[in-house]
Amino acid sequence: MAAQQSAPDSTKQPTRTCVGCRRRERKADLVRLVANGDQVIVDSRAQLPGRGAYVHPSRSCIEAGLGRRAIERGLRMRPLIDTTTLAQFADQIDHQTLAKFRSSGMNAR
Ligand SMILES: [Zn+2]
Repeated sequence: MAAQQSAPDSTKQPTRTCVGCRRRERKADLVRLVANGDQVIVDSRAQLPGRGAYVHPSRSCIEAGLGRRAIERGLRMRPLIDTTTLAQFADQIDHQTLAKFRSSGMNAR
């Protein structure tokens, strides 16, 4: 009966394109990355100045963005030599997502 519908006002929210899978997503659901010299910083509060790139908080999107060099291009920086930060971030995100799923007891759709 009650077909679950997502909030219709979601269209009003600002959207960004994920550098990993290139899908448009609500900005609030993406993680902002900013360039700092030769490094990429995860701007978890979306407050750092400068050009940002947006990615889904998922390992596959981060790795896809790295693999295609879409993150560097999005940030207009030289190809990354050191991707440790992002690799670590991808790792954390994976665990956080898992933890979230567990604590919320699998949101029924
Ligand atoms: Zn994505």
